[in-house]
Amino acid sequence: MSVTENLTIIQDTIRAACARSNRNPDTVNLVAVTKYVSTERAQEAVSAGILHLGENRVEEGMEKWQVIDGDVNWHFIGNLQSRKAKNIIPAFHFIHSLDRLSLAKELDKRAEEGQTVRCFVQVNVTGEESKSGLTPAELPAFIEDVKQYTSVQIVGLMTMAPYTEDVETVRPAFKQLRELKEQIEQKEYIHAPCHELSMGMSNDYEVAIEEGATYIRIGTSLVGKEK
Ligand SMILES: *Cc1c(COP(=O)(O)O)cnc(C)c1O
Repeated sequence: MSVTENLTIIQDTIRAACARSNRNPDTVNLVAVTKYVSTERAQEAVSAGILHLGENRVEEGMEKWQVIDGDVNWHFIGNLQSRKAKNIIPAFHFIHSLDRLSLAKELDKRAEEGQTVRCFVQVNVTGEESKSGLTPAELPAFIEDVKQYTSVQIVGLMTMAPYTEDVETVRPAFKQLRELKEQIEQKEYIHAPCHELSMGMSNDYEVAIEEGATYIRIGTSLVGKEK
């Protein structure tokens, strides 16, 4: 299917999930995850009206960034090695995978004077061993510690739920991320406004929206999978 056809279906689904949860669909940002597809297919997504692209590898992301034409917000969604921080800062508008202080330090060091590096803190809500991210218990102190790295701004929290056939089983994880976000928001940190929630993928984005997602990251059901 073309990206446009998939997009129509996804937009309808987003609207329905928003209607069920009394939300304005404009508050849900759709990030097209293009890690499985070619630059051509990613370009097709942008031409179809997609405003946000997500990549999880620095080199492939940079390749697409150099070629793709359009007003795109670039999201880095994968594990980020500290030594590659300097490469992605100029290209990516958001980093969804801040999961350690040493990375915050490196991003701060590599940022230009006056530049803000917008990050989501990745949280491993369910404690799955295969997933990176902070535990909920580690989060409050981490947020405080990031304050010293003045170029880094914490815009929100991100999580990846376990894959499951029954999406209701992931609802508590999304709900917990929202509650963690609200706790940080209430502290009104200048460096960590934390208004955003990056959660929901092809399999579970409806539930994520119902639980408050403001960035959903969709690959397979939007652009497909070529590799
Ligand atoms: C691959 C990936 C996605 C998209 O997954 P789909 O199931 O293909 O929609 C979203 N978020 C992250 C962090 C990913 O690595």
